[in-house]
Amino acid sequence: MSDDNSERTSSDEVEVDGTSGFSANFENADLDDEESNQGLFDDLLSGEPIFENKEVLRPSYTPHELPHRSDQINKMATILVAALRGETPSNILIYGKTGTGKTASAKFVSKELESTSKKYSVPCDVEYINCEVTDTQYRVLAQLANKFIEKNKARIDDRIADLESLLDDLDEFDAAVERDSTDPADDRTASDPFDFVSAADPEPPKESSTGTQNESTSGDSPVETRGSSDRSHEPDDPALTATDEGGRNTGTTDGAATDRPTHPLESTPFETRGDVEDRISALADDKDSFEEVPMTGWPTDRVYSVFFDAVDYDERVVVIMLDEIDKLVEKSGDDTLYNLSRMNSELENSRVSIIGISNDLKFTDFLDPRVKSSLGEEEIVFPPYDANQLRDILEHRSEVAFKGGALSDDVIPLCAAFAAQEHGDARRALDLLRTAGELAERSQSETIVEDHVRQAQDKIELDRVVEVVRTLPTQSKLVLFAIILLEKNGVHSINTGEVFNIYKRLCEEIDADVLTQRRVTDLISELDMLGIVNAVVVSKGRYGRTKEISLSVPLEETEAVLLSDSRLSDIDDIQPFVQARFEN
Ligand code: ADP
Ligand code: MG
Repeated sequence: MSDDNSERTSSDEVEVDGTSGFSANFENADLDDEESNQGLFDDLLSGEPIFENKEVLRPSYTPHELPHRSDQINKMATILVAALRGETPSNILIYGKTGTGKTASAKFVSKELESTSKKYSVPCDVEYINCEVTDTQYRVLAQLANKFIEKNKARIDDRIADLESLLDDLDEFDAAVERDSTDPADDRTASDPFDFVSAADPEPPKESSTGTQNESTSGDSPVETRGSSDRSHEPDDPALTATDEGGRNTGTTDGAATDRPTHPLESTPFETRGDVEDRISALADDKDSFEEVPMTGWPTDRVYSVFFDAVDYDERVVVIMLDEIDKLVEKSGDDTLYNLSRMNSELENSRVSIIGISNDLKFTDFLDPRVKSSLGEEEIVFPPYDANQLRDILEHRSEVAFKGGALSDDVIPLCAAFAAQEHGDARRALDLLRTAGELAERSQSETIVEDHVRQAQDKIELDRVVEVVRTLPTQSKLVLFAIILLEKNGVHSINTGEVFNIYKRLCEEIDADVLTQRRVTDLISELDMLGIVNAVVVSKGRYGRTKEISLSVPLEETEAVLLSDSRLSDIDDIQPFVQARFEN
């Protein structure tokens, strides 16, 4: 889109060589006139561009600096540094309202953790899951299982590549040996590369020092000591894995031996080419044995066990970051957290540590006490930003985001003030600033002024409603549609029974399942919580209590959003449904 193009040209630069093709299609175009186009884009281009780089104001942008979050970031780092020492970090629970920088800070810390772990070659993996998207135990475990399977496969590929290059070295070595041995009248054939070894030292020493091996093979040592599903391939036995330097070199006493390069298998756990080949095929078998978890269909315990094995394949510390964890618990209970938090007692090679991030301060009330105490070993609170802090954040970003002089002085303080009212939400502050800029741009203003911020505030609120309505499940949309139809027909103080009757007709019309009135009452409460309807309980004296429902969002826009759903747009004649109200 044109408004994303930061390298705009102003109109006078735009007179691309005149009139060709484009304007010729217009009936009245004057082909001789230099400015023969009809100015479709000229006006839009004429304003000075407002943005230098709009991307930095988008939520997807991860800032390199997070002012006013150093306490929280340092605390996370202090806890997680254990992972770099090969210890299990305490689990962490992070709380704070939306837009307080939790996700940005956690991602920042995990990036640092992973890059430091690479720097020092400490095996540590961080996995981030957004539980708003991945919201069932099955999906969380499946996603984790598949990610670790992917990582394991990549590691196995690396190890196989290392072992294959070891085989190449062996080939070279053998060729060199063969060249040496063709000189003297030597009837040894090159067909068995280890002929050399066995001939030189017919009785390989049974005892050997294992002390030097571990360091010298550290590159692929995890493969050799753990994780294989088929341990019989592993040269676990020290006597087997030993290579004896002395044995091999002292075996040949002639002078040529001193020129010989070190044997490639020396200081590896392998004695023969066959060992290496066996190891490669064992690794290949491991790789094939990982079965990716399908996104649905398996029993959950099978998914768990695949995930468990994938994590435990290698020695490492695994940090699992569960963002929006309250959404997961709300939707599917605390089983996932229970299973994750008890893993460490059963893992043999790896250790798991969990970081839960929640917008809802109270969600731990719904947790099993064991889960609660395990997950909340450490707690970090992200308080709302105040208006001054939001100002700092906005000022930081605006330096990169806007052209010099594009912002009038009161814009950032006003965005900060609006967002501070909105529970200190930095996301809202950035949205406001970006939207104000877009509105200024659209009205061809050269600077963003206070009024653009106010318009932006209204626009964002309407966008929010549209988005919430658009993404409602069909059943909720039907309930909301019933309420809208009633309001459109002048019904005030709508009660649940009336909504239910119309809802029922709508369901029949589009062949949807009809929920019970009780469920419909729940859906109305949900719409209430989303701020789409207002439902107040009123006492009807001896008739008990009932809900009075009214719409709290703009009717026409909301109806338009509902009708843009293909299922609902099939309902064309709505009058009979409203009639239904009077029939019961
Ligand atoms: P949360 O996860 O708490 O809802 P986010 O981490 O997603 O909040 O932050 C919302 C937006 O505000 C993101 O665009 C983020 O980059 C930005 N943000 C939050 N805190 C800061 C900060 N201290 N400095 C700079 N940007 C911030
Ligand atoms: Mg977040």
